Amino acid sequence: MADNEKNKPSAQLSTQPSAWNNPDFRPDLAYPKLTEEMIERLRAYGSEETFPANAPLFTHGERQVDMFVVLDGDIDISLQPANGVAKVIAHHHKYDFSGELNLLNSQGSLVEARTVSPSRLLRIPRHELQRLMRSEGEIANLITSATIWRRIGLLGEATGGVVLTGHAGDAEMTQLQRFFIRNNYPHRILEVPSDEAAPADPAVSDDALSDPESTLPAVVLADGRILQRPTITQLADELGITELPDPELIYDVTVVGAGPSGLAAAVYAASEGLCTIVVEGTAPGGQAGTSSKIENYLGFPTGISGQRLASRAQLQALKFGVRFAISREVITAEQIDGIHKLTLAGGIPVCSRAVVVASGAQYRKLSVENYAQFENRGIYYAATAMESLLCRDNEVIVVGGGNSAGQAAIFLSGIAKHVHHIVRGKSLAATMSQYLISRIESSARITLHTQSEIVKLEGESSLECVTWINRRTGESTTRPIGSVFVMIGAEPNSGWLFGTVKLDKKGFILTGGSDGFENTPYATSVPGMFAVGDVRSASVKRVASAVGEGSVVISDVHRYLADHRNQFAAEPNSALAALRLASAAATAQTQEIGK
Ligand SMILES: Cc1cc2nc3c(=O)[nH]c(=O)nc-3n(C[C@H](O)[C@H](O)[C@H](O)COP(=O)(O)OP(=O)(O)OC[C@H]3O[C@@H](n4cnc5c(N)ncnc54)[C@H](O)[C@@H]3O)c2cc1C
Repeated sequence: MADNEKNKPSAQLSTQPSAWNNPDFRPDLAYPKLTEEMIERLRAYGSEETFPANAPLFTHGERQVDMFVVLDGDIDISLQPANGVAKVIAHHHKYDFSGELNLLNSQGSLVEARTVSPSRLLRIPRHELQRLMRSEGEIANLITSATIWRRIGLLGEATGGVVLTGHAGDAEMTQLQRFFIRNNYPHRILEVPSDEAAPADPAVSDDALSDPESTLPAVVLADGRILQRPTITQLADELGITELPDPELIYDVTVVGAGPSGLAAAVYAASEGLCTIVVEGTAPGGQAGTSSKIENYLGFPTGISGQRLASRAQLQALKFGVRFAISREVITAEQIDGIHKLTLAGGIPVCSRAVVVASGAQYRKLSVENYAQFENRGIYYAATAMESLLCRDNEVIVVGGGNSAGQAAIFLSGIAKHVHHIVRGKSLAATMSQYLISRIESSARITLHTQSEIVKLEGESSLECVTWINRRTGESTTRPIGSVFVMIGAEPNSGWLFGTVKLDKKGFILTGGSDGFENTPYATSVPGMFAVGDVRSASVKRVASAVGEGSVVISDVHRYLADHRNQFAAEPNSALAALRLASAAATAQTQEIGK
């Protein structure tokens, strides 16, 4: 018997969806049945309702949908119709429940739910669901696990989600694809050859797409609307991947950055009852999210991809009610009457009693002519499955002597024809872990070029040819190579804090005890603002230490909030009013300057 047959759960399928043919899909975990005892506990969070046959419960694109538990009757769950035919992907019976990842966030529903026969259902409204997730551990874990597996199922469906259409290797197309992957958003790629005007797929053929130069890449939404060359922010807002901050609320803590340290801080803060928002400039995962495999993080003996680790952590945070404003960078920070006011891209304010800065670091760039022209068109800073597709069976270059470069070289050597690993130093010994050095040395598909540097990049629309020089011998090598993975250390993401907190010479945030900072290792020079992870001066640049710091800092936040309880209790509305006045004044000033 096939594994999927063995695991067949309660929710039956009226068709054979493609996700079920995926050997990694676990239908038993995606569609668990609630017990009678669980149903009795769930009654405290919802109310019973009866529906006739064929009644819609929620539809595609709808946000903040309620959860429905079947008491009697049955529900069909179907994908957006393709060519006029809706595909049923699950059929819920007694004690099954509806919903997937969008139960925990504000994304629009990717599926439609409809009763099949007259049905008696327990409706659990969204605000009650959040209470349930915090109070009912066992049921919360069952729901959380089901939502992950249902999303994995949806990711495997050929017709779920959105369609991304454009030219392969195009920089904007690559960025959009990376955004979908890193946010686990179901999508399908429709590549248009560079010399072809319109996509061949009837689902996306539209006059608006007939001029590829001006309209591609484009995203075809589930409701048929087309976004031409959307920005990441526009997409995040449109699909509900961003949850904007509540303007009427002062959060207990705002976490800036959703790398390992920020995600850890968010999980600990929310699980300990703090009202928490995470603001993330691109996508959850940070630098770790760009790693194909992290092998030294405790508890994962065979390694885990950074993307997977981040997805799990984000889910854990969502379970505890964290709000995520994804793809919104924090631009400025100030403190007014003890309350922190952060301004996000687009002028959106977030008010918060405490701030945890977890904005990490980003890769340095090579100083070579034409470099910027080839970023995302042959120059990459991550080596994940997505980038590897762009260089299959071709020669590639990895630059850098650290562990991340070593990991990338090993990962790519299994996909590319050959990896040229270029480092400036005489050897890898001082900069890379021995286990990685051994693997590089024993690989016939990796050539290490020490004391070497890239000096020339050439190509028309994308990178085609690279020249490097051995500084010791003076020998120059030119190869027809279209993919260079640059991993040469990182610079702190602290530009938005210049003039606000004290930084060290390299721009990392100074913390802990010196210069009268509060006596904790994570306090910055601004009261109530803490810094953790790679952005912190003298931190150890590792996933485990970032996670550790993010977890530990929350006890400092608790202490700070308790010490300032009286200040915060005094008229929170007046603080909000003061902040709004300050915002309005700032806006007026900006308009004045713009005249
Ligand atoms: C390819 C690669 C492989 C690695 N492999 C390993 C490994 O195997 N083992 C290991 O221990 N370590 C590894 N590391 C190091 C590890 O990933 C980092 O130490 C860790 O990610 C640091 O976490 P962080 O949360 O402090 O910062 P980051 O991971 O840098 O996350 C910071 C986040 O903040 C966001 N951000 C920045 N500025 C703003 C702003 N103004 N507003 C909003 N958001 C903002 C960024 O978009 C980012 O998502 C690797 C790093 C890389 C790049």
